[in-house]
Amino acid sequence: MIDSIRQIFWAQQIRFVVLGMLGALITSALAAWLSTADLDLHGRLHALVLSVVLTGTVAASLLTYSVRQNVRYLRLHLQTQMAANSDPLTGLANRRAFLTEGEHRLATSRQGAAQAALLLVDIDWFKRVNDEHGHEAGDETLVHIAQTLLHAVPAEALVSRLGGEEFTILTNVTDAEHLAQLADAVCKSAEATSFYYRGERISVTVSLGLALAAPGDTLSTLLSRADKALYEAKNHGRNRFTLAA
Ligand code: GH3
Ligand code: MG
Ligand code: MG
Repeated sequence: MIDSIRQIFWAQQIRFVVLGMLGALITSALAAWLSTADLDLHGRLHALVLSVVLTGTVAASLLTYSVRQNVRYLRLHLQTQMAANSDPLTGLANRRAFLTEGEHRLATSRQGAAQAALLLVDIDWFKRVNDEHGHEAGDETLVHIAQTLLHAVPAEALVSRLGGEEFTILTNVTDAEHLAQLADAVCKSAEATSFYYRGERISVTVSLGLALAAPGDTLSTLLSRADKALYEAKNHGRNRFTLAA
């Protein structure tokens, strides 16, 4: 998304500079030529070259300044966009980005052969981490799980922090079995990895609710089915996944 904004921006800037320079040079050449009709050819050519060189120099400086300003505005715009769409703690996409980008991906997946799937991930007994190790350790756990998720799923998957200790993974799968393999890999890698916070070892497991997109699904219906499946996974003992009916 950001790459395509950059590409469009630079294509526009190049057009802007080329057209700006051409416009300035042609106008100055014409003005010099028409306003020196009383001079001989040598004098007219001399005035034309002088006019083109001077105008070209001024136009180049103004256009460079203008492009620099535009780059500054683009940078500010991208920074604001990044801040609005990412979770400051984990760096993952936030709920807002998940909802907009997720809806877009869901629509795109309908046109292809692969099926979109949503994995709703919730850390088990997370409140205990806060209670036993402190809120900061809880925050570190969220960062740790975010990294674990990113490593466990395909690079093109959209991994977001929905809020609190709940994450979503939106990705394309070939079928329900493929989705189950992915969920199993997430569960196992969360269980297998631990980290140290101020010398204390912290280890958590996660539960997942899975939903495969069906025709007519929106992100909201998909999320609601994954949520019910997550509830079942929690009720059946945690550290496991359940596929929504
Ligand atoms: P369950 O296995 O049923 O999901 O139990 P749980 O303890 O994980 O779930 P519960 O909803 O009881 O507790 C979630 C806790 O997450 C409570 C809240 O204080 C904590 N929490 C939410 N957001 C944050 C955060 O940004 N940082 C920290 N450290 N804790 C958070
Ligand atoms: Mg929760
Ligand atoms: Mg939880």
